Amino acid sequence: MFTALLDSLKSAGLPSACGICHRFGQEAVCSSCLEQFAQPRHRCSTCAIALIDTKQTRCGACLTLGSVLDSCHAAVDYAYPWDALIQRFKYSDRGDLRAQPALAKRLVHVMRHSAAQDKSLADALQQAQRSDWIMPVALHPERQKERGFNQAHAFVKNLFPDHPHLRSDLLLRIKNTAVQATLPRDTRIHNLRGAFIAAPLTACLLKGTRVTLVDDVATTTATLSAAAQALRQAGVHQIHALVFARASHA
Ligand SMILES: [Zn+2]
Ligand SMILES: [Zn+2]
Repeated sequence: MFTALLDSLKSAGLPSACGICHRFGQEAVCSSCLEQFAQPRHRCSTCAIALIDTKQTRCGACLTLGSVLDSCHAAVDYAYPWDALIQRFKYSDRGDLRAQPALAKRLVHVMRHSAAQDKSLADALQQAQRSDWIMPVALHPERQKERGFNQAHAFVKNLFPDHPHLRSDLLLRIKNTAVQATLPRDTRIHNLRGAFIAAPLTACLLKGTRVTLVDDVATTTATLSAAAQALRQAGVHQIHALVFARASHA
């Protein structure tokens, strides 16, 4: 609750505490926390997993199995301390939705900091700004009702406040899948088959377009891939994904 109060103060334009170390200042996340925890990583171009070999452009899984995504970029690894920040954002400090815009701004601040140091991420953000459509990964309506909002939508709205074609109604999630992080890769992909569709009445708007899909976290790219599959079926020509954090396992 203390952090919720700080976030409300921040949204009122007052100095607030860093989202990580809680030291007071003007930034949503202070420069020493960014320096310590948000160093750029070399990542696979189609799933954003961190790669140790800087000469490699794609990971083994993407090279072997291919990817429905044309590109995927992430600001940070889904690890300490960003995992806790995302949990607070997702559940808005246990349901206090007043804190939610300030929490979204923290993620955007970190994303912009990462892009200032990582040309490939900066290019991806520029490309997203020029894409025909930009859309959050849809939540199932029941999940959205439980949570009170779609965190991917809150994130993308703050990341691209001026995008003229930010739409959350073109892609629908029609299957409510359980939390899948602990399931094996094949099971996750199987469970997500048919989880998304392009909204039938507007599917014609997608044909031949370039879309940027945005999510807060990619634990794996199973969800992004299932969403992308539905967009491909509607004739989308290029699909680029942007996530705040990417887990460091396949
Ligand atoms: Zn800090
Ligand atoms: Zn990959």
